[in-house]
Amino acid sequence: MAAISGPAMSITREKCMGHGRCYSVAPDLLSDDEEGFVAQAGDEFSVPEELAGQAEASVDACPEHAITFTR
Ligand code: SF4
Repeated sequence: MAAISGPAMSITREKCMGHGRCYSVAPDLLSDDEEGFVAQAGDEFSVPEELAGQAEASVDACPEHAITFTR
């Protein structure tokens, strides 16, 4: 997998319990799948700089510590 330059986040699918807090605080980055789990779990993906605040909020909101954000 190629490294992503710039802000990026990843969500560990196995840790996600479907609480829904992450996509509530980061609606421009994250959404839910048909079962309420975060749909973007899996591969690392880029985060636009203007959405870094939402990414950080989602990290803080996840009770399962499933989300990482690097910049
Ligand atoms: S807050 Fe965490 S556990 Fe809940 S849906 Fe988002 S990633 Fe999954």
